[in-house]
Amino acid sequence: MGKSVKSPASARSGDAVSLKARLKKPFDIDEVMSRVREAVKPYPKPVLFELADRGFGSPFQILVACVITIRTFEEVSLPAALKLFEAADTPAAIARLGPERIDALIHACTFHEPKSRTIHAIAERVTNDLGGELPCDFETLTSFSGVGPKCANLVLGIACKQPTGIPVDIHVHRVTNRWGYVQGNTPEKTMVELEKRLPRRYWLEINKLLVPFGKQVCTGKMPKCSQCPVLEYCRQVGVRGHR
Ligand code: SF4
Repeated sequence: MGKSVKSPASARSGDAVSLKARLKKPFDIDEVMSRVREAVKPYPKPVLFELADRGFGSPFQILVACVITIRTFEEVSLPAALKLFEAADTPAAIARLGPERIDALIHACTFHEPKSRTIHAIAERVTNDLGGELPCDFETLTSFSGVGPKCANLVLGIACKQPTGIPVDIHVHRVTNRWGYVQGNTPEKTMVELEKRLPRRYWLEINKLLVPFGKQVCTGKMPKCSQCPVLEYCRQVGVRGHR
């Protein structure tokens, strides 16, 4: 077979691609985490970490707050969760509120009506069947309707201090795939890939860091690559335009 001959233009574009790849450093997760940790210092913490810092960090409270945050902006979720916990912050007290009162308290968030029913059902089951305390157990946590692996892993990591799985939300999914650190076309697949590769010491922190990083720097559209502290490590997979 003869050698393929490149046109001058395709040779130049191939050279540009390989030059870009050569300018990248081998991916160093410790260095990347350290730089991202520094970069997100000025920004608010993700809601569940903030609530835990404010004293609402029991497994039940983190689970309820996680339900509130689903498909809801952080700026809306935090006041809604605080409003609910100011009215009632134990399973028995939230069960006594009833779904309608819960709905009124979390009214600002998306899907407040089904969420109020979910929260009430969780509170009732914890009160009536689980002795008033939500156990730190993945199977029990995901047995509640409306609770998936992300919320269960956040409860286990933040409230139980047992990060036994990685809470992958849309930001963790997008950023780690752009880095080229994993290849997962859904958050669920990204979680599986990350759990094979990411050192355990980062299993909870990756969520705490990449939620603000994904909102402020590595945004969904037009990420701020030119100001990004990890540009030299990031393969920018799938990034077609950036600031
Ligand atoms: S270089 Fe761009 S794509 Fe990569 S992490 Fe930074 S902002 Fe995101």
